[in-house]
Amino acid sequence: MRVSRLMLVTLRDDPAEAEIPSHKLLLRAGYIRRVASGIYAYLPLLFRVLQKISAIVREELNATGALETLLPQLQPAELWERSGRWSGYTAGEGIMFHLSDRQGRELGLGPTHEEVITALAADLLRSYRQLPVNLYQIQTKFRDEIRPRFGLMRGREFIMKDGYSFHANEASLKECYGEMDRAYRRIFSRCGLKTVAVEADSGAIGGSASQEFMVTAEAGEDLILSSGDGRYAANQERAVSLAAEAVPLAAVPCKELETPGQSSIEALAAAHGFDPSQIVKVLLLLARCADGSLQPVLVSLRGDQRLNDVKLANAVSARLAPAQGALLSIEPLTPELVRTERLALDLAAIPFGYLGPDLSDAVFASTEATAGMGNAALSSKPQPRLITKLLRLTDPTAAQLDAFVCGGNSPDLHRVGASWAGLGLKPEVVDLRAAQPGDRCLHDPNQSLVASRGIEVGHIFQLGRKYSEALGARFTNESGTEEALWMGCYGIGVSRLAQAAVEQNHDSNGICWPVAIAPFEVIVVIANLQEPSQRQLGEELYSSLLDAGLDALLDDRDERAGVKFKDADLLGIPWRVVVGRGAKDGQVELVQRQGSLKRELATADLLAELPGLIEAGRSGLLA
Ligand code: ATP
Ligand code: MG
Repeated sequence: MRVSRLMLVTLRDDPAEAEIPSHKLLLRAGYIRRVASGIYAYLPLLFRVLQKISAIVREELNATGALETLLPQLQPAELWERSGRWSGYTAGEGIMFHLSDRQGRELGLGPTHEEVITALAADLLRSYRQLPVNLYQIQTKFRDEIRPRFGLMRGREFIMKDGYSFHANEASLKECYGEMDRAYRRIFSRCGLKTVAVEADSGAIGGSASQEFMVTAEAGEDLILSSGDGRYAANQERAVSLAAEAVPLAAVPCKELETPGQSSIEALAAAHGFDPSQIVKVLLLLARCADGSLQPVLVSLRGDQRLNDVKLANAVSARLAPAQGALLSIEPLTPELVRTERLALDLAAIPFGYLGPDLSDAVFASTEATAGMGNAALSSKPQPRLITKLLRLTDPTAAQLDAFVCGGNSPDLHRVGASWAGLGLKPEVVDLRAAQPGDRCLHDPNQSLVASRGIEVGHIFQLGRKYSEALGARFTNESGTEEALWMGCYGIGVSRLAQAAVEQNHDSNGICWPVAIAPFEVIVVIANLQEPSQRQLGEELYSSLLDAGLDALLDDRDERAGVKFKDADLLGIPWRVVVGRGAKDGQVELVQRQGSLKRELATADLLAELPGLIEAGRSGLLA
């Protein structure tokens, strides 16, 4: 390929739309162009990178026996209704682009493919003799991300490798999961990426194992908590740890305490000399469910701890009645929310800031009426229905306190020396606290959690039987009875990975692609196009390098040499061959983009040596 034919437009300055180095560099070096928010054109240079990544992915997955396939991106709503995800993915979080066709049938643009593949499995897989099966595809996915940003890192249209496996039993699923783990490590290492595998949130499905692969980088959106001994690493969404010991509260008989204006933990602790760990913090939240019902949730947490929203959403999801459908969202139940939603609640009955874990259901029961009597009553939307029984969840840090301070369920009032039995409660204990950097580790309390940032490039997941049960994907087992298939799913963000590679491999002059995924392996720069000997040698060399099987690019533009050198650095091609003044004596200069190698040599020597140097880089094993 010739640079003169590449539509190459490089930018000297950082584009205003980009915040992180990799995004700036991909724009500046002419790899991508923004078409709309979260929607990018992959220009020919980037397309070559994507193809190289895809080739590595294919090689490694095919080697495990996985089969490539291609599934439709337009997916009928009906499939998603059967899995129970339609409302959550459209009306709820709303991540799925959806539309109606001209017959009025509803469709979604695939953000992921569990539904489609499971429906196929239901159709095609009948017997244990056909199992296990592992299918994957590399394809554009659509997600209406609320905050598309950082270029290809979080797009609304992006390329993903997604794979799904089907098994006769859990042991077979676990074996495949292990094999995918190993394949993923090889894929990322061959792409020249330094990744760490971390425990990940498994969503509302619960219990099943799931692991993310993170490219470590400061610009990463994910917070990783890991132990110094390397034995534990988890996404903060999921991380567990030992909370600091609580400061014991002298066991006094429970008594009331006037606390005017002390509605926050800090104010209360400061006014009376309590340690925040002696206080039970009570949070009132409202969960919206797909059937239109509103479920109030009361969370009790130790005063020095923070709530982990992902853990909360999982815990609430798992406890909804089947008729309530999916959890759409969960947010603090505040006086403002009561007013804006026109909830039929008596605000005076809820002493915000002074709630105790024993807040009475009567607060809600008194308002048996339907919520949202305003405009909603006129619309065809389902009426939100306020559930009158609180879902009460207690974090272990709070449940373990023998005596504590808590709200008195009355304005300006707290109680000191309260206990769970004394309040007449048997707490439902569930891990809800956010693990923090500095916390002690569960596996070894002498280790503590250290924070780092990562870019999630892959996710492997033991799904279990959630989708196969919902979509009736059943097979006949060895003893002749029917049961639901066991499933795993495995994703790699191919376009995100390309940008993550830049985030991890760049310097002040531009990109430094790992050889294995570089758009070209070598760029031949003709310093002065007006000089016939340079031009001729450059052309010859370019052909010879192509003949030698190298991915060569020829900079044949009639530009100043300095401009071309700068562009070559910006583009990040691993090797540069400069055909300059020495051309008439058959001498050229070889420069390595990342590293210190820079030397003059004869053309013949270059042709003898360069293929070997590049071949060593292609294997992609990290230096
Ligand atoms: P995230 O938490 O970053 O939103 P996710 O958990 O939704 O990711 P998966 O559904 O597991 O991601 O998708 C598989 C892979 O696809 C991810 O590991 C990631 O690399 C990539 N990916 C997900 N969303 C996007 C996006 N909006 N843009 C680019 N890549 C994405
Ligand atoms: Mg996501």
